[in-house]
Amino acid sequence: MYRRNAGVRQPRLLRHDNILFRDINRKNIVFPDRVPVTSLENSMTIWSGADLICMDRRPALVLANIQLPEGRRADITIRDGRIVHTGAGEAADVMIDCTGLFVLPAAVDVHVHMRGGSQSAKEDWTTGSMSALAGGVTVVVDQPNAIPPLTTPEAFLARVREAQAHSFCSFAINSGVTPDTPIEAMWAAGAMAFGEIFFAPSSYGEALGTPELSSVLGRIRALEGLATIHAEGVTPGEDTGLATHDALRSSEHEREAVLAVQACNTSDCRIHFCHMSTAKAIDAANGSVEVTPHHLFLSREKTGDSNSRFKVNPPIRNERERKALWARWDRIDMIASDHAPHTMAEKEIPFPDAPAGVPGVETMVPLLMAEVLDRRITLPDLIRKTAIAPAALIGIPPAGYTPGNRADFALYPQSAVTVEPEILHSRCGWTPFEGYRAVFPETVILGGTVVYRDGEFSRGNPAWFAGKGYAPQTRQV
Ligand SMILES: [Zn+2]
Repeated sequence: MYRRNAGVRQPRLLRHDNILFRDINRKNIVFPDRVPVTSLENSMTIWSGADLICMDRRPALVLANIQLPEGRRADITIRDGRIVHTGAGEAADVMIDCTGLFVLPAAVDVHVHMRGGSQSAKEDWTTGSMSALAGGVTVVVDQPNAIPPLTTPEAFLARVREAQAHSFCSFAINSGVTPDTPIEAMWAAGAMAFGEIFFAPSSYGEALGTPELSSVLGRIRALEGLATIHAEGVTPGEDTGLATHDALRSSEHEREAVLAVQACNTSDCRIHFCHMSTAKAIDAANGSVEVTPHHLFLSREKTGDSNSRFKVNPPIRNERERKALWARWDRIDMIASDHAPHTMAEKEIPFPDAPAGVPGVETMVPLLMAEVLDRRITLPDLIRKTAIAPAALIGIPPAGYTPGNRADFALYPQSAVTVEPEILHSRCGWTPFEGYRAVFPETVILGGTVVYRDGEFSRGNPAWFAGKGYAPQTRQV
């Protein structure tokens, strides 16, 4: 860290409308009736096109010498968790020189299973959220198939309290959906979205049938909520290895499940398809589409057939399907990890009995950053699919480079390392991506505060993002 403006001359002070301004350049002084003014939460004022910044408080953080994706260099000034100015930087409490680093809006992972409670041996909010931060993710959306499942307001609010007490990153929590779930009460309790709604049997999940799904989608539509769907079809049978697991939950089954979901969505509810694993299913989907790193990077040819560590739903496919998935890159709206930590001891048992799911929140962006370094994908695409689109999906303020944006960033070096379990932070203690190339962030900023730097964590001010239906006057959290 350094203070670039340490030697700056004493600025001249101006007063206008009871706001004190500093004239940085001693020129181009224009008053608000002449220049567009943006007021942000009444605590700061920026004049676009002029180097004038409200002086009532010093900015907390300046990220200096950022290379913006469009190529321009700029300093970003942050106060109260938001960007207040992009351009020439101000003197600040903390300045970070970003020369030579990729400065990315931090990722939002809309699909994690943070465990905790009776499943704390696998993961809890502390280790799961540290794992997220160390992978450049500052907001996670926790899935409701926890133990107990989040299908009552009481269970939901207990989960919120658990996360508020322990999480190092910001979070939102979804409501579970069964035919008996009080959907409207879950919405009022602060559920961000509904689901993942299982449209097939899976670990801990009870699948809904077509009539139940149709009715539930109608109720979610009435709330103007979002339904997130785990769409799979399953042929009964024993999965003795990854090939039979794949055959029992085939790409054709996945496609048919997508079509069946859409056919029973007679109310035109907003639908998001979780972890689509095949090009066929993506081609059939007319909602937003999420894909995981394990379906983009792993195939049976790479993992071997009988390794139960790689058992996950939907299954790891073959190399041909994996390449076809990459060919749909432009149609894929966002990447989410489906972080589902199980311990090695739980996974390394006979294949049919092994639980489905792999960890991945910490490696999601780093694996994709290695693809950026190798010029197989572009940085703007990565930012769109890991930060902008997921924030828009759940309706939270976007992280980014312009005034008003949420000040969550991850700073990446321009070199890759090899993924080893020892460098990761999930309690489950292993990764399906061992040996893969990845670029991990050096520094992560949450709400304008450095919360992770060179392996050290500090707890900043993580937020709970409640859904649009949250009615706090009736709920005590
Ligand atoms: Zn799922």
